[in-house]
Amino acid sequence: MLAEAPIFPTYVVGSLPRDEWVLDVLRARDAGILNHADADRILDGAALSAIRMQEQAGLDYVSDGEVRRNTYLHVFIDAVDGYEPDVIPSGPFSTSSIPAIVSPIVQRRPICGNAPEYLAANAVSRTVAALPSPYTLGVTMWTAERSSAAYGSPVEAMRACARIINAEVKRLAASGVDVVQLDEPWLGDVVNPEYRRAQGIPDLDRELALYVEAVNSSFEGVEGVSTAVHVCGHSSTTSPGSRSWPYDILFEALGRMNADRFTVAMSGLNTDGFQALRHYPKGKVLGLGVLNTAEPVVDTPDEIVGRVERAMEHAPLEQIALNPDCGFAPYRRNRRSIDDVYLKLKAMCGAAETLRARYG
Ligand SMILES: [Zn+2]
Repeated sequence: MLAEAPIFPTYVVGSLPRDEWVLDVLRARDAGILNHADADRILDGAALSAIRMQEQAGLDYVSDGEVRRNTYLHVFIDAVDGYEPDVIPSGPFSTSSIPAIVSPIVQRRPICGNAPEYLAANAVSRTVAALPSPYTLGVTMWTAERSSAAYGSPVEAMRACARIINAEVKRLAASGVDVVQLDEPWLGDVVNPEYRRAQGIPDLDRELALYVEAVNSSFEGVEGVSTAVHVCGHSSTTSPGSRSWPYDILFEALGRMNADRFTVAMSGLNTDGFQALRHYPKGKVLGLGVLNTAEPVVDTPDEIVGRVERAMEHAPLEQIALNPDCGFAPYRRNRRSIDDVYLKLKAMCGAAETLRARYG
């Protein structure tokens, strides 16, 4: 039995860089050369290596590096019929594409396979497992042209996805993982007027209500596990508005979500950004993003401590957890080397140690 989590607990968001042989196994699995059971057995070694790397860095909560997934989205798309892969531009600030719904969705197999059981059984530290949000899977992957024959509206599509995600969240809770996290890659962007204009989203209040429904329906009736929502920071992209989000609007919406912790990207923000933490919902753990996942530079523990202390001017220390701004490899390609990531995580955990000595 693990002791109670310390103050300033440290988390990852999810994905870690994967070796080329791991990506080859995924390609062979997708091509049908390897069946899922064999691929899973081979990938156990990669998952164990990811778990031990994070524990060696000193993290209190570790993932399996999401080594078995093509991407954070495809973990769902690859297990559910009804999508055409990678046909919708993924937003005005990105050059990548996301799938579209083209027929009623039908689940073929458990979304996460045996990954959560393997993680819970093999980690010494506490564990976190993530799923994409029904908003992303339903609303952003619905287009009138491709999807309306299957679902009359994006909301209908979202609700169909939410039923599958809610069942998978309950399966994750029963698997023994400590935290289930929903990934909301565009929730941070939707409060940005420039993004809404480009995406043709006319009504912010209505859109935020959909986000809230997506999270609350995913976590409905879920017990025995801590819940989290990752609000993507896009520190990896050229998102021009990401530094000037109206955080008060974003935080008000988070306050209506039934989750225990939200990750908020803060590694690149100026003083004004930290002041916005005054609006962060009371009683929710603040997953403070203190590591930029796009840049190769490894911040020193002292620099990270400085970021947390700026946040502490506006939020109680008991509420603060430390995490990177985003996953380290949410897409197929690695953005950073595994050594860079290890050193970044180690610096973050070193910062947490300093903070505990100073304020514990
Ligand atoms: Zn992210």
